[in-house]
Amino acid sequence: MRTLIKGGTVLSPAGGVAADVLVEDERVAAVTAPGLFDTADTVLDATGKYVLPGGIDAHTHMEMPFGGTFSSDTFATGTTAAAWGGTTTIIDFAVQAKGTSLASTLDKWHEKADGNCAVDYGFHMIVSDVNDSTLKEMESCVDAGVSSFKMFMAYPGVFYSTDGEILRAMRKATETGSMIMMHAENGIAIDQLVAQALAEGKGDPVQHGLTRPSALEGEATSRAITLARVTGSPLYIVHLSAAEALSAVAAARDAGQNVFAETCPQYLYLSIEDLARPDFEGAKYVASPPLREKKHQADLWRGLRTNDLSVVSTDHCPFCFKDQKELGRGDFSKIPNGIPGVEHRMDLLHQGVVAGEISLGRWVEACSTTPARMFGLYPRKGVIAPGADADIVIYDPAATQTLSAETHHMAVDYSAYEGFELTGKVETVLSRGKVVVSPSGFSGGTGHGRFLSRDLCQYLN
Ligand SMILES: [Zn+2]
Repeated sequence: MRTLIKGGTVLSPAGGVAADVLVEDERVAAVTAPGLFDTADTVLDATGKYVLPGGIDAHTHMEMPFGGTFSSDTFATGTTAAAWGGTTTIIDFAVQAKGTSLASTLDKWHEKADGNCAVDYGFHMIVSDVNDSTLKEMESCVDAGVSSFKMFMAYPGVFYSTDGEILRAMRKATETGSMIMMHAENGIAIDQLVAQALAEGKGDPVQHGLTRPSALEGEATSRAITLARVTGSPLYIVHLSAAEALSAVAAARDAGQNVFAETCPQYLYLSIEDLARPDFEGAKYVASPPLREKKHQADLWRGLRTNDLSVVSTDHCPFCFKDQKELGRGDFSKIPNGIPGVEHRMDLLHQGVVAGEISLGRWVEACSTTPARMFGLYPRKGVIAPGADADIVIYDPAATQTLSAETHHMAVDYSAYEGFELTGKVETVLSRGKVVVSPSGFSGGTGHGRFLSRDLCQYLN
């Protein structure tokens, strides 16, 4: 089975070139000068379009337990929405509950995802119970293709790890060559600010932002970087939202430390003004770290240009406004944390290209190539080259669209980007050589996606 994508501009981190792409079964067979081949079983005309490696969203939470409920996208609905938006790989988080093993956690997540995904998927492991046996199990996780471990400096009593526990896990990461991912907010201090606000009768969603000041993200980020330096562990800061945290990452990188960071579209486009929307509407925008003042956005775009922010992920974690966000009416601390976004990351970041904030090459690099290398999937994913999986997006840079809950495919009853008018739109998506999205609709299936056993980070020696 041969598919020829002809006439397009093939994108990579180096920019675009006029080339045709020949796909044979599940893989890219050749990238050639235009017109070299002209027959195949299927010919897709990409004239005037970009042809780019499928997006990799390295931070999603499908069916994630949180505060007595679950994020509203299943692996089936969430990966289908991802495909619609040009994302052909997700890396989701298996969540260790206290008192359970990493092995049983991984089994549980395989049970949820296996056979239910529309695109390929991998897992990170959330470590919430650091002890001798958990640390030992980090080794078998790496062998099972789960080579990155997320820890929390936030959420005391739930996911929170002490500095000592973080230090121990980092030592094990150094020993195994695996990656520590960090949710860097000072949760102990934040809990005090939350308690104080509630005691003063302040229960509105905007308080979620006011009780989690950016300085406490900066402090925790610096502390995580110091612990990583002491242990020699690589460190990946997830969902970086604040200028203070970015400064700490940039300084560590300038000093030669293996510190990396991602940001998310919501921190580039939304702000605490959304959290302050009246009539509890602000609850739609509750996520941690919180949306910041607008002034942080320019710093984040700069970080994306300079590679101090090297990945854009979504932290997709949808909760319905009606039934789920409602749990926190009158008490912002009970609003489930998360914003939906897996479907819109490629389009939203393309707006950065349109606005001149980032180049076409950076768009592809931050959304596909770097996450592939960061999490041990390259060159199988993240590039259009012979031998790579044929995860390919044909993107129309001139099409326009308006985002809305009416038209999106995520299983959630609102859009954080309702009414956003965008330039550029996904036209066709191939996942391992199969057309799963085309102008005539979704033609994939929720059994198509395969588990990706990942190698170690490819930015380390
Ligand atoms: Zn997350």
